[in-house]
Amino acid sequence: MNILLLGPQGSGKGTQAKRISAEYGIPHVATGDMLREAIAAGTELGRRVKPILARGDLVPDEDMISLIRERLSRDDTAEGFVLDGFPRTMAQAEALDAMLREIGRELTVVFELQLPEEVCIERLVRRARLEGRVDDTPEVVRRRLELYHRETEPLIEHYRATGKLVGIHADRPIPEVFAEIQEALDHLSEDTMIIRKSAAEIEAMASAGRVVVETLTLLG
Ligand code: AMP
Repeated sequence: MNILLLGPQGSGKGTQAKRISAEYGIPHVATGDMLREAIAAGTELGRRVKPILARGDLVPDEDMISLIRERLSRDDTAEGFVLDGFPRTMAQAEALDAMLREIGRELTVVFELQLPEEVCIERLVRRARLEGRVDDTPEVVRRRLELYHRETEPLIEHYRATGKLVGIHADRPIPEVFAEIQEALDHLSEDTMIIRKSAAEIEAMASAGRVVVETLTLLG
């Protein structure tokens, strides 16, 4: 399952992505975390992007696209991934579409976590106190939300056009939001299982099931 999470800062993308990753056993690919790791490790990219993150601005598309290209080429994404924080611009979205097409894959679903702006600000200011992130100060938060509206929000229409967008009301407790995501994913995987399997594969699965039932019966 190749999952993309969209939504403003503070909508709970990171939290939900981590839960999806744990529940479905697919890696959480979070570009914000990757950049913070590069900064902490003092790599060339880290040194370059440090002031950009501190201002709440966006890292250039070329850097982000090559970061994601490298990350998605690793083996651990073979069964799928949860993308969080990328794409953030139309150029990144188009690059992602092309990249996935090249490797014969596509996004399974795009979740849009919806949350009123006042709630985003309230949550981010609270997170600033709890985690002490340098980019959670009121001015930087305002800048990040402004960029979200200008650069990232248009992607919602881009993905709506693909028929893969699922809206989620994120102004609720974490477990309730996750339950809704899970319900959507479970439906999707049932559909994909049926669509992707040939008659022979379905028969093979059914006979494997019969063997299990017979064994369990024998074992009493
Ligand atoms: P996040 O943790 O997702 O809020 O990301 C933290 C910061 O990393 C953002 O405010 C940007 O400065 C930078 N960043 C993360 N992902 C991207 C991206 N896809 N494009 C540009 N900048 C990004």
